[in-house]
Amino acid sequence: MGSIPKKSAKSHSEESSERSSNQKKNANYSRERLARIIFERLGKEYPGSASSLCALQHKNPFQLLVATILSAQCTDERVNQVTPLLFAEYPTPALLAKADPSRLEEIVRPTGFYRSKSGNLIAMAEAVTTNFKGKIPKQMDDLVSLPGVGRKTANVILSVAYNLPGLPVDTHVQRLTKRMGLTTETTPDKIEMDISPLLKPEELGAFSLRLILHGRKVCKARKPLCDICPLADICPSSGITVETAAEIKVGAKSSK
Ligand code: SF4
Repeated sequence: MGSIPKKSAKSHSEESSERSSNQKKNANYSRERLARIIFERLGKEYPGSASSLCALQHKNPFQLLVATILSAQCTDERVNQVTPLLFAEYPTPALLAKADPSRLEEIVRPTGFYRSKSGNLIAMAEAVTTNFKGKIPKQMDDLVSLPGVGRKTANVILSVAYNLPGLPVDTHVQRLTKRMGLTTETTPDKIEMDISPLLKPEELGAFSLRLILHGRKVCKARKPLCDICPLADICPSSGITVETAAEIKVGAKSSK
């Protein structure tokens, strides 16, 4: 990163003019083309598959599901500090289903919301044991039937654990796809449906992970680092500040 030279300080009118110029460039691309460019450029910054880009430490789909449930409102680093002990004490869904709630709460407490997370983990493990013979299912409908599992978590399991198509939409993916002009949708489920057809099914998991990593490192919520962003020349939001973010209009031409 950092191959794009730093910009000099600009007046508000210069920033507005530049954004308008970027929106025009952006409008020359179909949404598919724009998604392809973003996928490939971010691939140079964050290379690898969804599985290799996932920061949650795990050795099987069960461990990934547990870690993903714990990652809600918590950093991956904090989750990774907690899971070794948890996996050592409860290595299978059957053992987790029989966990003593107070002991499990004690272990997961550092991840926050520990009572509800502990309850969801036990209920999820019971459902996996009872309904799926102890195996984490590979179908979206089956995954979202598990307590504590929504489409985002299910898509993590599909794309990272099973190398199947899946676009997890978290807060970073929501923010970046809007800023980049890829969608005007505002809810995770609608964003997933809107973005998924733009890329090959097998690319969706890596696309989500690349957006998440870019959102953490460069396209930050409160202060996007557009000066060092490899997408600055095509992004309609390049140069935004938090104050002007609400003014940005989506510039991509709809290809629907
Ligand atoms: S950092 Fe700036 S240029 Fe890069 S994607 Fe975010 S808003 Fe666009």
